[in-house]
Amino acid sequence: MDYSQNQQGPRIRIPPRLIIGAVIALIAVGSYFANSSKNAITGRTQHISISPEQEVALGLQSAPQMAQQFGGLSNDRDATALVKRIGQKLVSKLPSEATPYPFEYHLLADPKTVNAFALPGGQIFITEALFSRLETEGQLAGVLGHETGHVLARHSAAQMAKSQLTQGLAQAVGVASSDSAQGAQNAARIAQMVGGFVNLKYGRDDELEADRLGLRFMLASGYDPRSMIRVMEILKEASGGSGQPEFMSTHPDPGNRVQVIEGWIKEAYPSGLPEGLQK
Ligand SMILES: [Zn+2]
Repeated sequence: MDYSQNQQGPRIRIPPRLIIGAVIALIAVGSYFANSSKNAITGRTQHISISPEQEVALGLQSAPQMAQQFGGLSNDRDATALVKRIGQKLVSKLPSEATPYPFEYHLLADPKTVNAFALPGGQIFITEALFSRLETEGQLAGVLGHETGHVLARHSAAQMAKSQLTQGLAQAVGVASSDSAQGAQNAARIAQMVGGFVNLKYGRDDELEADRLGLRFMLASGYDPRSMIRVMEILKEASGGSGQPEFMSTHPDPGNRVQVIEGWIKEAYPSGLPEGLQK
């Protein structure tokens, strides 16, 4: 962002690392108000030291860098439009408690890495490599719904609190804004930490919770939750190559996960799913 248009005063240009520093400072302030809160979507009590607004700021801050790691935004307009349309369809049916998050869905150009991930605050990504393997709109809704589940269950923020990442970031920010060589080094470290979000490994429970939420969101938008079973098979097939899909990172056995999905569907709809769901 360039603020040099102001004719009145001196040319003011805010270095990116100061902007990162400001975001980190927000988090440091937030950590003083560390508290346990009940998650309205999952019903679980969580220990999270940052607010949803701070999650949004962090997600927006790191989104461009994350996109670059996977080839930048896709040039395929039709596919991009489809990802955004299905994403917004899911969002339109989310419970009202989900409103603090301005969800955005992006298609990334990476043709090799089969992946989908979410940054805290609602920035959600899927690579062309995964997108191109999907066969139906319902399967896409399944992937995006799962990632939407991670955001609403605030899994990244909870992980940050757990790993005391917040504390490390807050300590680093002091020197980041100075112009010394060490300051620059720390600014780089902060950028790396923010970038580390995408590599965060969620626990098994987080993955299963994201699955359950994803199935809920799919159904609310009229998609057949059984499409998610095929997604698991597709991911299993893809995991033969290099690079583990995010979905697979904590679940070496997708067979278990298929069972959990089938169990959830049976429990939620003991007398069968409603008619006319979209595959
Ligand atoms: Zn996941």
